[in-house]
Amino acid sequence: MAVKVCKFGGTSMADADIIKSVKNIIESDGDRRFVVVSAPGKRYSGDKKITDMLFGCHKELINSGNCTKSFSAVRARFKDIADRLEIKSDFNAVLDKTLCRIEKEKSEQFTVSRGEYLCARLVAEYLEFEFIDTEKVVFFNDDGTLNGEKTYKAVASVANVVRRAVFPGFYGVDDNGKVRTFSRGGSDISGAIVARAVNASVYENWTDVPGFLACDPHIVESPKIIEALSYKELRELSYMGAGVLHSESIFPVRKANIPIQIKNTFRPQDKGTTIVPTSRYLPAGSTVTGIAGKKNFTVIFIEKSLMNAEIGFVRKILSVIESENISVEHIPTGIDTVSLIIENEHLTELKLNRILEGIKCEVEPDFIRVIENIALIATVGHGMSSSVGTSARLFNAIANADINIKMIDQGSSELNIVVGVKNEDYERCISAIYYEFFGN
Ligand code: ASP
Repeated sequence: MAVKVCKFGGTSMADADIIKSVKNIIESDGDRRFVVVSAPGKRYSGDKKITDMLFGCHKELINSGNCTKSFSAVRARFKDIADRLEIKSDFNAVLDKTLCRIEKEKSEQFTVSRGEYLCARLVAEYLEFEFIDTEKVVFFNDDGTLNGEKTYKAVASVANVVRRAVFPGFYGVDDNGKVRTFSRGGSDISGAIVARAVNASVYENWTDVPGFLACDPHIVESPKIIEALSYKELRELSYMGAGVLHSESIFPVRKANIPIQIKNTFRPQDKGTTIVPTSRYLPAGSTVTGIAGKKNFTVIFIEKSLMNAEIGFVRKILSVIESENISVEHIPTGIDTVSLIIENEHLTELKLNRILEGIKCEVEPDFIRVIENIALIATVGHGMSSSVGTSARLFNAIANADINIKMIDQGSSELNIVVGVKNEDYERCISAIYYEFFGN
């Protein structure tokens, strides 16, 4: 029998009425046996997410030795949901115990994980599903990475003995028995872990948007919804800032070839977006799948005659960057040139100066220049490799918008072309590319 794993994000858990519609969604398909939930999110703009309120609890705890005041707001939100869902168990007692443990553990990760914990307990009772605490089945290594092998085994063995269950997202436990969380938005990863462990036929990710959009709707009004894209395309787009799914959430399901379906809790009848294992499953004919980007990069441009023949040239440069403990995003190269593209947030003036001095000393370049405030824009699509003239169309569109391209990097997979433009040209550049490939 097919099993579907459904992850519901914070807006799908925001209040009792929405949780009631989530129940309808789950009950409308008997294969929806395993559910992963986020903590309740914002009910309206200006509202607070439970996770942010819990960060506030931790601050209060550290400053004053208890977090009674901040926790009372968390309690009120959960109590309201519990009352309106007519939860029978004594949820006040659950909240009391939670507060006690928060004050005892004094750990930020533990405190912020309680949003998912409390939400999953509520939803499990409301749906009459089992509650499975991810503290018992999701394991982290010491360095904060997931211990996949141990986790998949543990999740599978509990899933084998229950018919239907709710898991809290976002957290697990490390080797020392301490609760640890993924990075923000990490319940997407938890959902993917459960899907992988139970070998789901699909991982449904229920959210508050109609699907994955071909570009940022703040830049282009009502961009096209991407009906299907591959894991690789998703990885490129979400890495470059297209947010719907946490960028690490594909790894667990990709290995097992499980498709991800992005659905809208508020319009469950809509198709949404399907993320398929490889381009083989994509409809033929589309060239560009989507466009995404990020601002605020620094380019270090290095030129040296006969650089290509100098053994170890790039290694020496990279070792300078490595000694500052910084990662490089892209390294486009020419015959006698190489550029290093680094996110501004990793650089201070001091670090940048040390890097420039280090490079001068290691490789004695003919010329070195720093270009700041560069935005990177990735145009992504499997179709680009097989259709002639895609890059010409891309560069023409940018030229017609009167935008100067500062850097070009075409990944060797031919899956994407990244251009660097000035931060101030970012929005115009994205919209020029969008209209070229998607029309009006
Ligand atoms: N509640 C956590 C956050 O707000 C995790 C999640 O929702 O995925 O980041």
